[in-house]
Amino acid sequence: MNNIAEVIVDIPVHKFDKAYDYIIPDNLSEKIKVGMAVNVRFGTRKLRAFVLKLKDTSEVEEDKIKKIDSLISNEKFFDKNDLKLYKWISDYYCALLISVIKAAVPTAVFKGNISKKVIKGVKLNIELNNIDRYLEQLEKRAPSQFKVLSYFKDFSGEIKVKELLSKLDVYRGAVKSLVEKDLLKYTESIERRIPYKDFEQKMVEELDPTKAQKKVLKRINDTLFDNISKTYLLHGVTGSGKTEVYMQLIKKVLKQDKGAILLVPEISLTPLMVKRFYSRFGEKIAVLHSALSSGEKYDEWRNIKRGNAKIVIGARSAIFAPVNNLGIIIIDEEHENSYKQGTHPYYHAREVAQKRAEINNIDLVLGTATPSLESYYEAKEGDYEYLSLPNRVDNKSMPPVEIINMKEELKKGNPSIFSNYLKENLKNVLQKGRQAILFLNRRGYSSFVLCRSCGEVIKCDNCDISMTYHRDKNKLVCHYCGNSKEIPKYCPNCSSKYIKDFGIGTERIESEVKKIFPDSKVARMDHDTTTRKGSHRKILDKLDNAEIDILVGTQMVAKGHDYPNVLLVGVVTADTIMNLPDFRSAERTFQLLTQVAGRTGRGKKEGKVAIQTYSPEHYSVLAAKEHDYEYFYSKEIPLRKSLQYPPFTYLVNITMVHKNKNKAEKAADKLYNHIIESQVKKIVGPSPAPIERIRGEYRVQVMLKFDDINVRTKVMKNIKEDFLKKISINVKYNIDVDPISML
Ligand code: ADP
Ligand code: ZN
Ligand code: ZN
Repeated sequence: MNNIAEVIVDIPVHKFDKAYDYIIPDNLSEKIKVGMAVNVRFGTRKLRAFVLKLKDTSEVEEDKIKKIDSLISNEKFFDKNDLKLYKWISDYYCALLISVIKAAVPTAVFKGNISKKVIKGVKLNIELNNIDRYLEQLEKRAPSQFKVLSYFKDFSGEIKVKELLSKLDVYRGAVKSLVEKDLLKYTESIERRIPYKDFEQKMVEELDPTKAQKKVLKRINDTLFDNISKTYLLHGVTGSGKTEVYMQLIKKVLKQDKGAILLVPEISLTPLMVKRFYSRFGEKIAVLHSALSSGEKYDEWRNIKRGNAKIVIGARSAIFAPVNNLGIIIIDEEHENSYKQGTHPYYHAREVAQKRAEINNIDLVLGTATPSLESYYEAKEGDYEYLSLPNRVDNKSMPPVEIINMKEELKKGNPSIFSNYLKENLKNVLQKGRQAILFLNRRGYSSFVLCRSCGEVIKCDNCDISMTYHRDKNKLVCHYCGNSKEIPKYCPNCSSKYIKDFGIGTERIESEVKKIFPDSKVARMDHDTTTRKGSHRKILDKLDNAEIDILVGTQMVAKGHDYPNVLLVGVVTADTIMNLPDFRSAERTFQLLTQVAGRTGRGKKEGKVAIQTYSPEHYSVLAAKEHDYEYFYSKEIPLRKSLQYPPFTYLVNITMVHKNKNKAEKAADKLYNHIIESQVKKIVGPSPAPIERIRGEYRVQVMLKFDDINVRTKVMKNIKEDFLKKISINVKYNIDVDPISML
């Protein structure tokens, strides 16, 4: 008899992040299962908790062990396999188990607002063969009941009671009587807010796969149900037919009565994708997106759990969707940074997906036009199978990309932020009544020092990373090794005095465009103009409706679908991406430029891409111009190897945060001393974080670099189980395992 439950309580503190024993009271003994949420008393507090395990004895002394107070709902929020996954995440990312659970299950549970919008339905409760016999009996005596039961002669499944009544124009009593006679049966379902219900309902059948798609499909189909987890990297340019491949794979999976998860970078940016799935699979899809309220998310979560929706399309956290009998996981645009959560727990959905696939013995498909270096490396090493769709389905070519050397512009006497080429082409587009997008990467905080005469950027001598300009100290700092330097007065390369900190904002570009083309309709899309819900969509709709001539924006404009009237995409300066103080900046440059290039009139001869840069010879720019991934990889991977960056090493970035600078520093020192003995390849810091103060709190950073993942696992386990349990409760810390950004 299992009368003890191990539970984890909702206190996100390392000291309490473990299982506690509670007695299951008699009235709940049949009901409580692993994965359920309960209320318990913890010390003097009343807390929510989750059941991790049931057992029959406890080590805790009898007079100390408490009873579970009550059950929050009859829902099992996770099962044993899910828990295995959560524990893995907790260990790998050095995260609190309770935080992982909170990231995985619907937040409505924690807020206590579990909605109950139950819809009453009704369905047949007898064999269809027997229906005529009963109809005969009813025909004369009960015409309304006859009418209702007749409806089920050629309708199988359930129908909402309300709908049925209005359809047949009968009273509720007729249905009730049939239920009392056990001829019909009530059902309960949760009303679904169908996302994008304004979509055309027209179903679109499968397309005949092209030769290339057939090849890809055959490879994956061969292993789809073999009960061995395998990861495929599907590399294909935009328009090469990846989405069609996803749909055909999912269809196979559904046929086996299994479910699927498709992750997309940000759901609001991919309405087209959802629309296509909707017109192929109808209401079998569930869309988990950020615009849903927590109650709606919970409803959708339940619909998935009950099997009403078998295909889940969603952003990062959809990797935790409670799909029954999961048959495949697909990640579209696997290289996207949005798959990495930027707060605790700092998980990467791609890693979690791989683990979930492994636990469930299913396949994982990673689709992208520009594979992350990590994934491509895995494919080269043979850990992933590499599949490619090298051409667009319509065999159209990619738009031509023009690289503009801004150093030459300065020499020619044009000091403005727009090259003559870009100005000319903007004019041209406006004259034709078409549209242009001007793109600028800008991530606020960091700035670097660049020579506008020769393009030289001040980099760290040890790390080959752009040094960051700290205005307050008027110094350049390397965030990988802590090195610092004075800003040179003259360029060390060409002695020019045009060397200074470099930064252009979207606002400045907007106003310049207005100056040059006062009659044009210019709009700006960046962090400032899209804070309100739906504003992002609104701007893009305006672009669609020709209410905007020139759209100026940050990387937000690089995503989403293409606009047939956009004939020109201008990258105002590729340098702001290239010189981020990050070892991935070249990779980001290549990815973003490639993506931006895809935003113009696809395949149409007139579509043009113009990239302005002070480093026209940089391999990330050249590779993007030629749409040549392999070239990019061949240049980037040796650099990563020689400088000991991932995928050749494993990083952890730990930041200690405290209002008092001294205390933050002390905590970081303690951490440093704690790990100094372990076999970390390199410890950088403690040093001030790139953004030293946020909201009045000081941030001190320690970066760890391991060359063996097993050593890292050991060290992190020790940090989690020893160090973090001892640390003062007033010090906050962020532990970012496999950080994707050093900021
Ligand atoms: P990707 O996901 O790689 O961008 P898509 O699957 O969206 O590519 O395909 C690009 C376009 O080609 C879409 O309009 C799609 O409908 C069409 N397409 C894809 N596969 C086929 C096919 N086998 N036959 C005809 N058209 C196809
Ligand atoms: Zn110079
Ligand atoms: Zn350095």
